[in-house]
Amino acid sequence: MKSIAVCACQISASIGNRLILQGINLQLPAGRWTSIVGPNGAGKSTLLKVLAGLLPGTAVQGEVQLLGRPLAQIPARERARQLAWLGQNEGSADDLTSYDVAMLGRLPHQAWLAPPGAADHAAVEQALRTTQAWDWRHRPLSQLSGGERQRVLLARALAVQAQVLLMDEPLANLDPPHQTDWLHTMRTLVDAGGTVVSVLHEVSLALQADDMVVMAGGRVLHQGPCDAPATHAALEEVFDHRIQVRHLDGMWMALPSLPNKKSQ
Ligand code: ADP
Ligand code: MG
Repeated sequence: MKSIAVCACQISASIGNRLILQGINLQLPAGRWTSIVGPNGAGKSTLLKVLAGLLPGTAVQGEVQLLGRPLAQIPARERARQLAWLGQNEGSADDLTSYDVAMLGRLPHQAWLAPPGAADHAAVEQALRTTQAWDWRHRPLSQLSGGERQRVLLARALAVQAQVLLMDEPLANLDPPHQTDWLHTMRTLVDAGGTVVSVLHEVSLALQADDMVVMAGGRVLHQGPCDAPATHAALEEVFDHRIQVRHLDGMWMALPSLPNKKSQ
């Protein structure tokens, strides 16, 4: 039987007195990569925060389970080792060097006030090399471009070496070669047994995952494999048929639905 890495059971979430998510039931399998897509305001970021346990308990109804245990019952440090998080437009201490930012990902592994050990340094080096941020490890975050900064934050998430990686729009500001690198890195992680859940607005890149969750209006409309016709139909529908999913060069891609060009 497929084991479930993250389970959302009957989740609703409110901010103030507005209901943002309703009736969410999701099972995200371990060792697979799931992408979450949907229009702006669909509730994708809110759902990811609920899955990461980042919204106050009072705002959320229902239960999230991580690796078979209720998230709320997992002690914070243990949770931080099992689940790595990269938020949307996330800030970080700008005066820290890239190396120190990536080292923040190792905090849940370190004893209180103990200096980082050899395993921590090795994990940070590997993560910074993976995102090609090693060369500027001594530079403060404030001196990096948006894309360079994002690669350092990705390295911080990778350095956790968690079983489950949740990322909200991780490709923001990345140029196409680094987006491609990121796809390869995610594939390597899931091939090694990891679980990746990413919110992506680049639909063609989202289609390179294993499974897709399509959201709109605070609800899940569809969950299914990225190569299934029903998933493509749900995608085209949720984006008002302004995109079409096509198979090109062995890959599923989302193309814009353009009005017919005038013949010359
Ligand atoms: P997505 O990530 O799919 O664009 P979000 O989860 O960020 O969507 O937001 C879902 C809905 O919740 C939107 O209508 C948004 O305006 C609302 N929302 C999100 N955060 C807050 C907040 N802190 N206060 C009030 N409304 C919010
Ligand atoms: Mg969002």
